[in-house]
This record gives sequence, C-alpha cells and structure tokens, in this order.
Amino acid sequence: MARYTAAVCRLCRRSGEKLMLKGSRCLTPKCALDRRGKPPGQQFGRRRRRISDRGFQLREKQKARYTYGLMEKQFRRLFAQAEKQSGITGENLLVLLERRLDNVVYRLGFADSRSQARQLIQHGHILLNGRKTDIPSCLVKEDDVISWKASSTKTGYYQQVVQNIPAKSVLSWLSLDKENLVGRVLSLPTPDDIDAKFEGKTIVEYYSR
Ligand code: SF4
Repeated sequence: MARYTAAVCRLCRRSGEKLMLKGSRCLTPKCALDRRGKPPGQQFGRRRRRISDRGFQLREKQKARYTYGLMEKQFRRLFAQAEKQSGITGENLLVLLERRLDNVVYRLGFADSRSQARQLIQHGHILLNGRKTDIPSCLVKEDDVISWKASSTKTGYYQQVVQNIPAKSVLSWLSLDKENLVGRVLSLPTPDDIDAKFEGKTIVEYYSR
C-alpha cells in the first residue's frame, strides 16, 4: 500500500497546525512547527496570500488526510463509504477514520504515533480478536479485542510500552487492561469523542464541487 514517505513535519508547516505526526517529539522544543513556524517556501519573508474558500476546504481535507496518514485514493474511498451511510457524511467520515485499526492501536497507547502503530500491525505484532492481522486499515467493531502476539511481548519495545502505559489515558469508547496490554472497543466512537483538528463539513463541501 502506498504511503507518504517525505518529511512529515512539512505537512504540519503546510497546514499551519501541529498535527502530532511524530509522537512524543511533537511535545519537545524539537518540533519543526514551533522552531520554524512558517509554511515551507516562506522562509524568506514573503507574505502568505489570503486563502480562498476552495483553498480552505482543501486545507481541511489535507489536514484530515495527513493526521490519519492516508493517501488521497484511500481517503476518497473512505469518503465514499461515509456518503453511503445514513446520517451526516462529515461525521460518518470522522467515525470511520477513528475506527481504523492503526488509529485504535495508537489511541490505546501501544504506539507513539499512527505511523508507528501502522508499522506494528504490518509487522504482525498485533492481534485482533486473538488473530494476527496485518491490515492497518481494517475497521474495528464494538467488543473487538486488541492485544499483542505472545512472542512480541518479549521484545524491548513491548517492555518500553509497559513502562510508559500507566501515564497514558484512553478515550471513553475504549478500555485498556494496563497490566496485560489488552484493549477493548466498548462502543463505536461518536464525533464528540474525537478531538478532530478539522471540520468534516468542510471536507464534504470540498468533495461536493
Ligand atoms: Fe508536526 Fe510533530 Fe513535526 Fe511538530 S514535531 S511539526 S507537531 S510532526
């Protein structure tokens, strides 16, 4: 599956917001947005042009895409799925994004970022309902259980997660057994459960033209 491989801090600078794509580094003074602030290509003092409505819609869509680490084709596919569901498309999209397994692994605190979560899944460390799955895009359902493969619990990375997990909190739609690092989906997320940095409504407007 194709994925974005260039410097991710550039995406934050382009969006003008901290999208937290590099985990704990984002909270340190090393954050490129805190250090450099300006969008890429504006370091020589050129003023940024006023953004049009279309530009704003595009920026919101890109922010959502960058946050969840999706390529345009994957994002469009998910948008089409959201459109087919009953209810408000923008909210459906948000919930679908949040239900992705890589996002859930990140939300449970098993990874520092969604890209790291994606790697854990692709390398076969994560079990979904007791079965190995290497598909980061699969959508979790209510009562799904997310755990670790037995051999992966012997790795240094796992021990590091065990050490750090007490300081982490999980969202209300998830539960986590912090001793055994087993997560459960208590219910499907609602838009209110999600601290989105973008507006679903604006993304719908972008694709409606
Ligand atoms: Fe964005 Fe994190 Fe890079 Fe800062 S460190 S620019 S928040 S990805």
